[in-house]
Amino acid sequence: MDLKGIPASPGIVIGRAFLFDARRFIVPAKKIKEEDIPKEIARLEEALIKTRSEIFEIQKKISKEMGYNHAEIFNAHLMVLEDRMLIEEVIENLKKERKCVEHVFARVLEKYINVFSKMDDEYLKERISDIDDVGKRVLKNLLGAKEKSLSELKQKVIVVAYDLSPSDTAMMHKKNVMGFVTDIGGPTSHTAIMAKSLEIPAVVGLEKATAKIKAGDMLIVDGGNGTIIVNPDANMLKKYHAMQQKFSQFGKTLLGLRDEPAQTLDGHRVETTANIELPEEIDSVISHGAGGIGLYRTEYFYMNRRDLPTEDEQFEAYKKVVTRFKKSPVVARTLDLGGDKFLSQLEVPHEMNPFLGWRAIRFCLAQPEIFKVQLRAILRASAFGNLKVMFPMISGVQELKQAIAILEEAKEELRVRKIKFNEDIKTGAMIEIPSAALTCDLLAKEVDFFSIGTNDLIQYSLAVDRVNEKIAYLYKPTHPAVLRLIKNIIDSGHKENIWVGMCGEMAGETAFGLILLGLGLDEFSMSPAAIPEIKYVIRNVRFEDAKEVAKKALTLPTGEEVEEFVNKRLYELIPKLKKIDNKIKT
Ligand code: PEP
Ligand code: MG
Repeated sequence: MDLKGIPASPGIVIGRAFLFDARRFIVPAKKIKEEDIPKEIARLEEALIKTRSEIFEIQKKISKEMGYNHAEIFNAHLMVLEDRMLIEEVIENLKKERKCVEHVFARVLEKYINVFSKMDDEYLKERISDIDDVGKRVLKNLLGAKEKSLSELKQKVIVVAYDLSPSDTAMMHKKNVMGFVTDIGGPTSHTAIMAKSLEIPAVVGLEKATAKIKAGDMLIVDGGNGTIIVNPDANMLKKYHAMQQKFSQFGKTLLGLRDEPAQTLDGHRVETTANIELPEEIDSVISHGAGGIGLYRTEYFYMNRRDLPTEDEQFEAYKKVVTRFKKSPVVARTLDLGGDKFLSQLEVPHEMNPFLGWRAIRFCLAQPEIFKVQLRAILRASAFGNLKVMFPMISGVQELKQAIAILEEAKEELRVRKIKFNEDIKTGAMIEIPSAALTCDLLAKEVDFFSIGTNDLIQYSLAVDRVNEKIAYLYKPTHPAVLRLIKNIIDSGHKENIWVGMCGEMAGETAFGLILLGLGLDEFSMSPAAIPEIKYVIRNVRFEDAKEVAKKALTLPTGEEVEEFVNKRLYELIPKLKKIDNKIKT
């Protein structure tokens, strides 16, 4: 059986499926006989007791480690378990519907969540996540599913899940997670981005992978084209083993470029830098020949923990990163939470449109004390290397000025404390909202550099949710609207003599590299593993030819035509690449 999804992280892996069910469960709707009703009620009671004791345990542990205040939030969870109305409703429906108790329980839970989410009362709305959390815990116990953290896996497996959050993915270790596949998710969701950074092949948006794949099934995951083969025959296995080999040979050839500059045949030089989420990725950044870090997604430092990181803790982490890079630049992006990245320790209310909501710089400007802790840590680390600071989700000049003013306050606080930092630290703005892209002539006067965040810029300009697999076909970096915005950003930056980089996933796509180079992009920042191939393209074309490609691409009416055109030109300009690609595809 073959399944087709959205390619999220390239590479081929072959291994056994592990069904990870931390978030959602496929709940069977089994019919039951009348005489089985008491048995089902007893199962529910048992699951409730088990859940209660699990919550008590967690509460005890947190209370011991962090104080009672932090453990108190679980009282709300216990209250949900003791809600007789909910339990009575499950028992009543069980008798009426004669379906297994997990099915009935899941339906009642869904109804509760629906009712709560429609209420005007903010307090009640915030209880949704309590009901959801506890409900899933009860379901897990009813289904007898084991809860495992992805960091605790003992064997090498391919993870199959309904969804994985960016923080789940951050817990994965390449050592045991060979690859993963999910039912939902889009190509530039942070889960997909994280997989690329960790070099874990992944396919997302498969819709029914968790229903079709059973635990222990043998899987082939081809992350480059989004294919999953379930229980392949011997021939298929042989073919994919051979492909794996070719992949690694091509990879080795490209790694030979590690110490070479990203310079075109006619001498135009650009920078190829890396995006990182975790300091552990630095070895991979260096081994792939990055000229620095173009995007350090610092929010991962805030994830998978129960408290906010202190100034000292952050300072040490940022210092460790900059000192590894000596003179090469490191761009620390300030906290960009929200959208599809949530932090358990911050009580951010549930929103209808999280990508359009209280995220990134909006959150930081509203919480200057949290923001300043991070800014002081970044400033302190700037004394130890070439560290720059960049603000995410800037929508206009006023917001940018506000962020810079808070940075100045943080500088002043350090001066008072007589702590050294780079007084001349360079500041940048991410251009990832159409309003910023259209006013970047004004924004360019306020900062030292721009970095284009195409992951968000595309979702906002084309109105395509970046994590929704149903509309992923509309998510087109080559859409004429996107290309025009990119051209405007680069030209406006250059007019004000500032450099313009790109740290969205588009910068790591081989064929698009040709257009971006031709449009005059100065810095290409991407997941480390993508650097060698982009460098290879840049080193094998002439800047003059790339400019021609960009010029023509801008005249084409659809994203599809642009894609077809650049792919064709790429192979014409670098015939060697076509040979290698064909080899990999056969
Ligand atoms: C972007 O939006 O392109 C970007 C690089 O930021 P993130 O993916 O973290 O939103
Ligand atoms: Mg973004």
